[in-house]
Amino acid sequence: MRQRTKSPLYQTINNELEDIAKQSLTRSLVSHKPLEKGWIRRNGKLMLNFSSNDYLGLAGHPEVKQGALQAIHDYGASASSSRLIVGSHPLYEETEQAITSWKQRDSALIVHNGYTANVGAISALASRNAVVYSDKLNHASIIDGIVLSRAKKRRYNHNDMNHLESLLKKDKDIENKIIITDSLFSMDGDFAPLEDIVTLKKHYGAFLIVDEAHSSGIYGPFGRGYSYQQKVDEEIDLFVGTCGKALGSFGAYVVADQIVIQYLVNKMRSFIFSTGLPPSVLGAIQASITLVQKDEERRRNLLQKSKLVRSILTEAGFNTCLSDSHIVPILTGDNETTLTFSSLLMEEGISAVAIRPPTVPPGEARIRLSTMAVHSDEDLISACQVIKRIGKELGVIT
Ligand SMILES: *Cc1c(COP(=O)(O)O)cnc(C)c1O
Repeated sequence: MRQRTKSPLYQTINNELEDIAKQSLTRSLVSHKPLEKGWIRRNGKLMLNFSSNDYLGLAGHPEVKQGALQAIHDYGASASSSRLIVGSHPLYEETEQAITSWKQRDSALIVHNGYTANVGAISALASRNAVVYSDKLNHASIIDGIVLSRAKKRRYNHNDMNHLESLLKKDKDIENKIIITDSLFSMDGDFAPLEDIVTLKKHYGAFLIVDEAHSSGIYGPFGRGYSYQQKVDEEIDLFVGTCGKALGSFGAYVVADQIVIQYLVNKMRSFIFSTGLPPSVLGAIQASITLVQKDEERRRNLLQKSKLVRSILTEAGFNTCLSDSHIVPILTGDNETTLTFSSLLMEEGISAVAIRPPTVPPGEARIRLSTMAVHSDEDLISACQVIKRIGKELGVIT
């Protein structure tokens, strides 16, 4: 065998991996097969899935699957190029129309996923001379978008409006200010104070971006999103939403005024320089958007089930952070306890993932539970009993 000359980078990589392992931060891949009612098979073992973002259980819905199949049948398996070349098959326009009518706004653009939506839109909108104000707990894709934009970055303490305002005041002379927040924070399960953010954005003339990744499809009338529930949607300049979570598919969208979408089509590099989404994905998204709007019961079930889980666990003494949603974290503190907690749960047939730094701040590791509309109450109640028992064994609760 020929010997490849090894660059010193291999040694650096090795050291870094050893370092990660020492901090109990190693991540690895395991394959899962989805089953009914929020169950999965992991390494051959049957488990209740408490880690899915398929909150409404639409990923396996027959109409969503049929939507994907029909689209492949009609248009093939690939977009075959970037949308600006010849990749903009008719399903794109249809789906964008479905999104604008759902969100009651001018214009929408389908993009590859939530990650590239944020990275692309923020870096296109925020020039070197702009300032971007970002909640400390915003999603990694927002942070990466700001870094790529080279704009000045101001992180404000989580949901701290006094802090945000003091930063906005300091930048009196800067013309372009952009405020960005998640509407529902993915690791804490709490919501952004959108009404207050809107007051500040109006007062300081800022452009407001709200990332509804975890809330779109679930909150507000017809599942339009949390901004709609709070009735501030018209004040939001740009929405980001993903189709990979409650919509049970893949892809993402940005929604804004027509002029902003037109600008992004011309300037958003993650959109311009990448092959369009395949027809199957668009077919699935269309079916999901139709279902989400008419199936109010699914949304009600999801919220009822998360309430059930949260009330059992808080009553047992767990710290569920400020969760007020279908995302229910239980704070466990250090990485090792959290990993042990998660692996004991898996032994008992419960898949609940350990969330560790850098996803959350050091010392705030947690088990993140997310409920699904298709979970059964009985399954959830017995899972909570197991969580309580293990919590006691590990001293997380008394
Ligand atoms: C998951 C998530 C994203 C990324 O969306 P994908 O479609 O999975 O790439 C972006 N923003 C937030 C707030 C998210 O939670």
